[in-house]
Amino acid sequence: MTLTFRRRPLDRPRPVKILRVERECKSVWSIEFEDEHVASASPGQFIMAYLPGLDEIPLSVSDVEGSVAKIAVKAVGDCTRALCGKKAGEAIGVRGPYGKGFELFEGSALLVGGGVGAAPLLFLARMLSAKCSKVKAIIGAPTGDELLFLDALSKHCVVLPVTEDGSAGEKGSACDLAEREIAGGGFDHAYVCGPEPMMAKIVKLCASKNVHVQASLERWFKCAVGLCGSCVLDKLGLRVCADGPVFSGDQLAKVDDFGRFCRSRSGSKVAL
Ligand SMILES: Cc1cc2nc3c(=O)[nH]c(=O)nc-3n(C[C@H](O)[C@H](O)[C@H](O)COP(=O)(O)OP(=O)(O)OC[C@H]3O[C@@H](n4cnc5c(N)ncnc54)[C@H](O)[C@@H]3O)c2cc1C
Repeated sequence: MTLTFRRRPLDRPRPVKILRVERECKSVWSIEFEDEHVASASPGQFIMAYLPGLDEIPLSVSDVEGSVAKIAVKAVGDCTRALCGKKAGEAIGVRGPYGKGFELFEGSALLVGGGVGAAPLLFLARMLSAKCSKVKAIIGAPTGDELLFLDALSKHCVVLPVTEDGSAGEKGSACDLAEREIAGGGFDHAYVCGPEPMMAKIVKLCASKNVHVQASLERWFKCAVGLCGSCVLDKLGLRVCADGPVFSGDQLAKVDDFGRFCRSRSGSKVAL
C-alpha cells in the first residue's frame, strides 16, 4: 500500500480562545472555541488539541455551530485533566480537523455510544435527523452520572440510556440494547463509537443482519497525518488517523486487530 500524507498550514497548532467550558457529566467537560477550520469539520472527524509543555492529543469534534466548534473531554490523564480545568478566556492550540468521518446515509439509523464514545454522536445525530426517517441513539455508561449528552441528543432523536448498575435508563450494556434493536429489524444503518470490544460485537451482529455499520476507532498516535505509523491496523495497514478513525463494517471484517489488539506507545502489540 502507498502511504500518502499532506502537510498544510492547518497541520501547525494555532491558538484558539476558549469561549465556554461546561461540565456535561461526572468526568466529561465540553469546551467551545471559535475556529473556522474546525467548524468546517464533518461528524466523526477529530482535532489535535495542544497544551504547550504537556501534550498534544486527539479529540473528536462533538458539534459545530457557525464558526464555533465543540469538543467533549473525559478527564483520564494529565492532558485531558488539564483541558477539563481550563476556563473561558484561556487559550489552547488546535490543528485539524483530521480524518475520515462518518458517511451519512438516508433511511433509518441506530447510533450506539459507550462512555465518552458518545462524543461524536451528538454532531452526527443532528446531521442525520435532517436526512433520515428514523434516528435512535443508545447511550451507555457504567453509572447514570456518566451518561453523556442525553438532553442534547433528545432534541434530535429518540434516546435510550443504559447503565451497568441500572442507576439510569435500562440496566445492562449498550451492546445488549443494540443487539435487541438490531435483531428487531427496522434499521438500515448503524453508527458506533465506544470501547472496541463493544464495537466488535455490534459490527459482527450488523453483518449477520445485513445492517450497514460504521465504527469509530481509537488508537494512540502523535502525527494525525498518517506519518508516524503508531495507529496502523494489521494486516491491511490502514492508519486510524488518516484512513479512519471511522471505518465501515466491510473494512473492519478484514482487520485482524479489530476488537483484539492495539499498539502501545512503544509500538508493540498489546491485547485490548
Ligand atoms: C480519533 C480519536 C478521537 C478521540 N476523541 C476523544 C473525545 O472526543 N473525547 C475524549 O475524552 N477522548 C477522546 N479520545 C481519547 C483521548 O485522545 C485520550 O483519552 C487522551 O489522549 C488521553 O490523554 P491524557 O494525557 O489525558 O492521558 P494519558 O496519560 O495519555 O492516558 C491516560 C490513560 O488512557 C489511556 N489511553 C490514552 N489514549 C488512549 C487511546 N487512544 N486508546 C486507548 N487508551 C488510551 C492510557 O493508556 C492511560 O491508561 C480520542 C482518541 C482518538 C484516537
